This record gives sequence, C-alpha cells and structure tokens, in this order.
Amino acid sequence: MAGHTSLYRNHVLFLSHSFFIKDNQAELQLHAHKYDFDIRFFHELSEFVTAVERDAADSLYVVDLDALHNMQSDLRDARKTLLLGELLQRLPTDHRYVYLQSVRQGSRFLLQQRLVDSNCLAYAEKPIANDVLVDKLFNLFVQQKRGDLVRVAMLGAPPGWDEAALRAQRLDIVYHTDPQTLHLRVKDLQPDIVLITDAEYERTEAVVRVLKRNIEADPVREITLLQRRADPALARRALDSGFDALLAMDDAELLARQLLNRAAKIRINRDLIGKDRATGLLNKIGLQQKAQALICRAALENRPLCFGVIDIDKFKTINDTWGHYFGDIVIKRLSLTLAARMEEGDLLSRFGGEEFVVVFWDCPLEQGWHRLDALRQAFGAIAFEVKPGDVRHFSFSGGLAAYPDGRSENELFLRADAMLYEAKQGGRNQIRPMAAPVAQTG
Ligand code: GH3
Ligand code: MG
Ligand code: MG
Repeated sequence: MAGHTSLYRNHVLFLSHSFFIKDNQAELQLHAHKYDFDIRFFHELSEFVTAVERDAADSLYVVDLDALHNMQSDLRDARKTLLLGELLQRLPTDHRYVYLQSVRQGSRFLLQQRLVDSNCLAYAEKPIANDVLVDKLFNLFVQQKRGDLVRVAMLGAPPGWDEAALRAQRLDIVYHTDPQTLHLRVKDLQPDIVLITDAEYERTEAVVRVLKRNIEADPVREITLLQRRADPALARRALDSGFDALLAMDDAELLARQLLNRAAKIRINRDLIGKDRATGLLNKIGLQQKAQALICRAALENRPLCFGVIDIDKFKTINDTWGHYFGDIVIKRLSLTLAARMEEGDLLSRFGGEEFVVVFWDCPLEQGWHRLDALRQAFGAIAFEVKPGDVRHFSFSGGLAAYPDGRSENELFLRADAMLYEAKQGGRNQIRPMAAPVAQTG
C-alpha cells in the first residue's frame, strides 16, 4: 500500500458510521491483526473513495450502509441526507465491495437486489460479531487471491475444453489412457479430482473400486463420471461402484465452469483443514502436505532445503506470570515476525501451541542456520511491555536439519526436533543445526 507501511500484510478499507464503529474499532482491529490484516477506518465518503482509487487493488473494501446516516455533510446541500443510490454511484466501479446492512435493510428485497447488483463482492447482515465478520472477510480475501493449484487426473480423451484458460485459473489437468494403471498414476500425482469418461468406465468397471479400496487413498478425493449423454442405468451403476458425482460432458465449456467451481470449494476445504485459524499459518496437517510437495520439487530440481523447528523458551512461565491472553499475544507477535521474513517458496507453520516450523527453499544448512538465527535475534529484539514501564524480552530455541541429508518430511522433522532438544539442553535462546557447518555460536 503506497505511503503506508504496516506491520500487517493485508488491508481492509472500512467506511463506517463514526458512532457505530467507535466502541467496536479496537476489537475489530484486534481480530484483524490475528489474521495479518490491518483495518483503516473512514468516516467520510470522499476520503474512502480516494483511498480505494489509490489502492493497489489488493485490499478488501467494506461499506457499512449505516454510514449513510452521518454523511449529509459530504454534500453541498447540508440539509440533504446522502441516499443509498448516490453512495453506490460514487464508489469506484472497478472494485468490488462488501456491504454491511441492517436486518431492516435486508428484509427489503428491492434494496437487496440493488446492492448485489452494485459491484457487490458479498453482503453481511448486522448485528454480526466482530470475530465472525473478520473471519468471513478473511475467507473472502483468501478466495480472491490466486488460488493454490488444484490437480485433476482424467481417464479418457479431453472433452475439448480451453485448457490454457483452466491452467490460468490454477487447475492442472493430467490425462491418462490406461484404466489398468490409473491407480498408480493417482498414487503418484495425488490429484484432488479424478475424472473418468463413461466410455472408459464401461471398458473397465472395477476402476473406481481399485482407486477407493486402497488403504492409503485420500478419502477427500472426488471421483467423477463424465457422461457423453444421459444414461440413468449406467449412472446408477457408477454411483453404486463408488463414483462421487456425475457431470455431463457434451458441453465442454459448461463442464469447465463446473470444475472451476469444484476447485474453489476444494481450496476452501483445504484451508479449513490445513490452516491455523488464530494466525492464518499452515497447521501441522497443512505443513505436512506442503512440505512433502516441496521435498518432491527439491528432488526434481536438485535443490537443498532447510527444515527448522522453533519452540518459545519458558513459555509456561510467560503464561503463569502474565496470563494466557498475554501468552497468545507473544505467539501472535512471533508468527508475524517469522512471516515477515519468509521468502518465495518458503513454508511457515504453527505446528502446535508455541511451536513453529519453517522450511527454507533452496537453502543449504549453513545459510539456513544464519536465517534461523536472524529470526531468533529479531524475536529477541521485540520489547513486550508487560506492565506500564516494565519491558521484557523473550526468546526461542531452534533445531535445524537439511534436505537431502534427511530425505522425508518425517525424518527432517525428527532430526530438527532432536536438535531443538539439544538447543534447550544447551541453555536455550540458540539454534542447533544437525551438523556443525559454522563455529559453535551461542
Ligand atoms: P521450554 O523452554 O522447555 O520450551 O519451556 P516451556 O515452558 O515453553 O515448555 P512447555 O512445552 O512445557 O510449555 C509450553 C506451554 O505452552 C504449555 C501450554 O500450556 C502452553 N500453550 C500451548 N499452546 C498455547 C496457546 O495457544 N496459548 C497459550 N497462551 N499457551 C499455550
Ligand atoms: Mg513446547
Ligand atoms: Mg517452549
């Protein structure tokens, strides 16, 4: 955001009624910060419009419609209250907005229609709890961002869709021709969706059972039958044999659109499963999946990785002395400190309570030690004012292991965790690498 540096990476521009928001402002902001968001509040339409126009278009724009009540001063004729239509008209049309409306407004369908047709990204009904609102905004924001890749494996001939357009929307399709080796390909690729044409299914009806009965099969994976033309008897058999859904493939463009919708839902589910709600970082499950993929990529491209495990020192004492709530803030500050220093390709996870994992992409052990040690120093430099005038500093310890010395995600974790134990034994506030590429430093 131009001319505005912030501790937080993402921004919400919020047009609101000054009275309504006054009591809420601090609490909304607190929740937002947990998600690495900062909210800028506006009480004047013209200032809000200017900020939206200047924005690099990567923020969320929220308009509380109650703001109308204190906006007559915006117009020359001070006696006139700003009407909804004028408000909507003055919002820049090349952006989309989240509208906050009262229940009374929501009960009037014409108004509702007007809103959803006015560059509406979403609308929310008040009253809405601050944490719920921020959580929903966060979800919208994630959906707007370039999505993670969704993988599709297809058995059968391409239906003639625009593959470049699908790839541009982060949908990657791999074609397979042999039903008897599909399960091997699926094991290899780990696709989110498997598409099988009716022709292929008729040729080898056991194909889905072979996919599904594998004890390691991902239960979330969707297996869909593509039907050239409706055939209810075949469809029934397919569903009985384990297909999750049927799609018509006579219109390739329609099929592509349905797949993109599925991909969006898959991404949302992945985030719900794989991310920590309090910090927005990957959780343990999300890290495991991403780290495995990163290790595959490192093997293909012949690059080193560093795997670091971080654990805050004497955290129990922090909780016991200043309370659990303060402990949470320390965790949050650490997550922001780490996140700000990640580079393209790195992974960052809140692995458990006060434990974090970092994976440095294309990074040999010695460089990894320097990077992790720089993180340790950055965290140690944060001044926490536990009481007015009483400033404390905290520390973490870290263990480090490198790929390809450790070959799997599990092995890397165990090695790094063993080194973390040594760092704790060695007096805490230090980083221990699996080997010793640099002189022992405290
Ligand atoms: P060490 O230096 O050996 O790591 O000491 P420690 O006290 O940090 O070690 P330990 O792992 O025994 O303590 C971690 C504590 O963190 C235990 C648990 O009550 C607390 N904790 C775990 N998750 C959270 C959380 O989300 N918030 C807060 N406030 N505390 C948490
Ligand atoms: Mg711990
Ligand atoms: Mg600890």
